[in-house]
Amino acid sequence: MIALPLPDAVVVLLALHLGLLLAASVFYALRRFRWTPRRRATPFLFRCSVCGHVYLDRRNVPMAECGKCGHMNESVKGL
Ligand SMILES: [Zn+2]
Repeated sequence: MIALPLPDAVVVLLALHLGLLLAASVFYALRRFRWTPRRRATPFLFRCSVCGHVYLDRRNVPMAECGKCGHMNESVKGL
């Protein structure tokens, strides 16, 4: 083992710990940039039978309310 005087050993241990903290912070900072968002749910297409308004809804529901007239409409198809 390398014999170091006590102040030098403290400085070396401090530098090692600071280096570990720097490496961990760089690792987590770079990992955040590689994160990709999850794919969103496929929207469902609705066409209003009263006013003809075409709209999308991402919820998996059998009927959705028209944004213009408020009539409930069935899904035409999923995109
Ligand atoms: Zn409508």
